[in-house]
Amino acid sequence: MARSSSTHLVVKSSLRPRRRRVHRCRRSPTKAERYEGVVLAGADGGAADGMGIFGAAGCPPLSPEYPVVPDMDDCAVVVDSVDDGAPAAGRRASDETLAVHAGEKLGSGGEAAGTDSIATPIVSGTTHWFRDSADLVAFREGRRQSFEYGRYGNPTVKVLEEKISALERAEATLVTSSGMNAIVATLLALVPPGGHVVATTDCYSEARVFIRDRLSKMRITSTFVDLDDMEALESVLDQGNVTMFYADSPTNPHLKVVDVRRVAELCRRRGALVCIDSTLASPINQKPLTLGADVVLHSATKYIAGHHDVIAGCVSASEALISRIRAWHHDLGGAISPNAAYMIIRGLKTMALRVEAQNRTALRMARLLENHPKIERVYYPGLESSPWHGVARKQMAGGGGVISLEVASDLRGAMRFVDALELPLIATSLGGCESLVQQPAVMSYWGREEEKAKNGIKDNFVRFSFGIEKFEDLREDILQALEKI
Ligand SMILES: *Cc1c(COP(=O)(O)O)cnc(C)c1O
Repeated sequence: MARSSSTHLVVKSSLRPRRRRVHRCRRSPTKAERYEGVVLAGADGGAADGMGIFGAAGCPPLSPEYPVVPDMDDCAVVVDSVDDGAPAAGRRASDETLAVHAGEKLGSGGEAAGTDSIATPIVSGTTHWFRDSADLVAFREGRRQSFEYGRYGNPTVKVLEEKISALERAEATLVTSSGMNAIVATLLALVPPGGHVVATTDCYSEARVFIRDRLSKMRITSTFVDLDDMEALESVLDQGNVTMFYADSPTNPHLKVVDVRRVAELCRRRGALVCIDSTLASPINQKPLTLGADVVLHSATKYIAGHHDVIAGCVSASEALISRIRAWHHDLGGAISPNAAYMIIRGLKTMALRVEAQNRTALRMARLLENHPKIERVYYPGLESSPWHGVARKQMAGGGGVISLEVASDLRGAMRFVDALELPLIATSLGGCESLVQQPAVMSYWGREEEKAKNGIKDNFVRFSFGIEKFEDLREDILQALEKI
């Protein structure tokens, strides 16, 4: 390739060593190191090697008055905007910068198909060429980096995996064809026959059913504990004999929050793994691995892809754990298509901007609606009135874009409210650019009274996933719709 003919590359190459150093994923710390990192981060506001969430998000130090949703104007980008001569290792890339640059193989050729395209190429090939047997042997022995077959790995997908690893501060990431595929592969890989999964009662419904009804056929037992009862949770975890603690945080749709540090501490003493479904937070608001969790997974369908147009999942952890999950995933065959991976890479570039806007809208709306006479209750961890606010403040950089509420009416009144909304669309799912609204009594529990009661869903319960429309437009729309109840 006649690369030397490009003056552009000559100019860029002077930047490249620094860029690459900044954006390369570090070895993820051991659990013990993570704990030290967390303690230090708590003490000095996140300066401990990029491990504290507030520091890692490029935000000012955590102080008692610090709002859950910071004024983003105060969040200086640490890397590339400040050239103070400090060694690059001492600086941290902000999530905004990582979302754009991490994982990209600009100009490096080889793995990224040797183009000079700024956008990552979509490599659609399913199989990769070896020049001769020696080339193949070099690949087998790890002396040459390449790919073999599309179900085991793909250059476009690898860029996405490295970007997510950087955002989660993880050693490795596996991207899958859906969030459920990531959940199933993780559970099958990490919980052996005879194992015991402790999960929260309000984890994602299909994950709950898989743990309860399918894993049980593999001699894996399960215990479900209510997050409201931390003592029960602690006593189950403390009994030992737990292979994995599995929980969503925040939960859907009640927006409860798991104290990840606390459960990680309990589990670490007992040798149990901690797996957090962090979908509702997104990697911008929460980084469970830095709080002591072993595994973090997402439905990338939601905030990570962010546009209601692609189904995907991901799971991040140590290289050792991800390679075990990857082996199962190869058998399950849940490979994501390179086209879908590209759409997620594209979506991720704006994730920080989107989520920061969604955080702000949700918090402002929650505060407004909390005091509205036609609203009985608002569920949002960013509200001071939320029982989960204290924990959320300690471990999240923002409360997320989902809020739930109960209108001061019945099933029909809540339907009239939902139907009168002009901007939020009636649909399931969350995390995209369009605001969505749903009434679970209708969307998920129509004709299933018993299930509805068991899951604490009232008829007047409504869930919003705020998008990136202007706050004032959404406010006006919601206020007019409340008049129609
Ligand atoms: C949507 C969702 C899932 C499932 O993800 P899919 O991409 O639909 O397979 C899992 N967990 C949570 C919290 C979700 O919101």
